[in-house]
Amino acid sequence: MTTRAFDVRQSVQFDHRRRLQRAAEEAGERGIDALLITPSPDYLYLLGYRAPVLERLTCLVVRPGAEAVLILPRLEEPLARHELADLADAVALIPWEETDDPFRLVQQLLAGSQRVAVQDQMWARFVLRLRAALDPTSLVEAGPTMSALRRIKSADEIDRLRNAAQAADAAMLAITRERLSGRTEAEVSARIRALLVEHGHETADFAIVASGPNSASPHHHPGERVITSGDALVLDIGGSRDGYGSDTTRTAFVGAPPPEFAALYAVLQEAQRAACEAVAPGVPCSQIDAVARGIIEEAGYGEAFIHRTGHGIGLETHEEPYIVASNPEPLQVGHAFSVEPGIYIGDTWGARIEDIVVCADAGGERLNTTSTDLYLVD
Ligand code: ZN
Ligand code: ZN
Ligand code: ZN
Repeated sequence: MTTRAFDVRQSVQFDHRRRLQRAAEEAGERGIDALLITPSPDYLYLLGYRAPVLERLTCLVVRPGAEAVLILPRLEEPLARHELADLADAVALIPWEETDDPFRLVQQLLAGSQRVAVQDQMWARFVLRLRAALDPTSLVEAGPTMSALRRIKSADEIDRLRNAAQAADAAMLAITRERLSGRTEAEVSARIRALLVEHGHETADFAIVASGPNSASPHHHPGERVITSGDALVLDIGGSRDGYGSDTTRTAFVGAPPPEFAALYAVLQEAQRAACEAVAPGVPCSQIDAVARGIIEEAGYGEAFIHRTGHGIGLETHEEPYIVASNPEPLQVGHAFSVEPGIYIGDTWGARIEDIVVCADAGGERLNTTSTDLYLVD
């Protein structure tokens, strides 16, 4: 891992002007008069900075055929002017004073609108007040419009996802070379978080360490259990690097794995490999799930694979497209998502393997490059 490549990429500026234009066009095609985007990953995607999530309303208004408007508290204006210096002619700022009603400002701006879309993670109190102010305008979710843009990653975004994956891989290799028996799950989890940051993440968002019977719980919270010989160990780790997420899982075994575990693991490894290889433009998301699930079912572990095969990743760890039986959406070049089948056996043990894969013209590219073999640890 060279820090040099990372520095060069940091200088890449996303084209937020173009993103605002495309969001307005996409909204227009969907019969939406305005998108109301409060601070969130969508806001970051469109404007390029993280605004504080506060009880005071900050709201970007994107309309087809009109200039974007940012309604924000007066005290947030200096930050916004600084962050939006390059977009000064593309976004008009409307600051409101402490005694103003910001919902009236939205109402005035959107007079005559029929259909207005609100950002998916907007606070309920804002949605309810907007609904009252905009009545009888119908409010719909902005998610599908924003996701149509965000789910197709640009080359620069894929570079960032690749860098994040490399940093997570380095942390994974480092932890699997340490002695783990005799340490608690919580201790190992804290160590992984430190390694994620040491290897280039800005934030270490999660480090699942699930040992022994806990490995059968996919989202186990690492606790005081002491890791011992004979434990299966599921390590699911990730964070954010240059704004983009990493998420990788490897399974380890403390000491020599019993034949039943080795057999289960061989099935899982084959299922994960086959699902990654099935990735190509035009293949339905449901088909990737079916490939992994088919191999696991065939071997008799169907009931033990209790979650979908994967999720999209980008500015958020979980986003569209979802790799699930109910999603017929065809994969497109630029989709980035996890392939992470797992097998979980009651109170005994479990295993999962997770890579981030990008759909390219030639097929799937695994961004995680560590071996998917079972890691034998002390
Ligand atoms: Zn998960
Ligand atoms: Zn995941
Ligand atoms: Zn994960």
